Amino acid sequence: SGESVTADMIDGLAKKHFPLCMRALHEHLRKESHLRHQGRLQYGLFLKIVGLSIEEALAFWRKAFSGKMSDEKFTKEHLYNIKHNYGLVGKMANYPARSCQTILTTYPPGANEFHGCPYRHYSEDNLKTALQSMMGISSHDMQDVLSSVRTQHYHVACTRVYELTHGIRKGEGLGGGETVNHPNEYCQRSRELEK
Ligand code: SF4
Repeated sequence: SGESVTADMIDGLAKKHFPLCMRALHEHLRKESHLRHQGRLQYGLFLKIVGLSIEEALAFWRKAFSGKMSDEKFTKEHLYNIKHNYGLVGKMANYPARSCQTILTTYPPGANEFHGCPYRHYSEDNLKTALQSMMGISSHDMQDVLSSVRTQHYHVACTRVYELTHGIRKGEGLGGGETVNHPNEYCQRSRELEK
């Protein structure tokens, strides 16, 4: 797991360093003050590995839900599950964050759910909108990304977006031609580029 990160840092980190799957969950959470179960799991476990401690995670989720939920309701409905993600209750397991493979092949999102991999699970129109609005992908570069999506090379599409948003030459990927296999790896490499 990474260095310590506070709840207040997440908005800034999301904009600069999160892959589209996590950025989409973050934007939805901010817009709706809500995420459904699989979204909370996918995003919560990712944030744990980004470096959010249990105290900061509770602060983050309590505040994120506060637009639509009382503190009492939050404590009753969400405290346990967040502690569970951190292995502090129940089976006390140290749950890993989901890899791209897991996100791509399990728990396909249903209606009103925003987890999953946007490259795989969004319609082409929704994906284009998300890439433009959240990642700033130009129409010139869009076809390059979409051509990988159309051939079901979702990791390649995500890696191309990483290159485009970090000014990295095509084919370099995360470094030495490595493609994206884990959302936390994407975030970690992106943060390292800043150092
Ligand atoms: Fe997230 Fe992986 Fe899909 Fe990229 S390829 S959006 S990191 S699940």
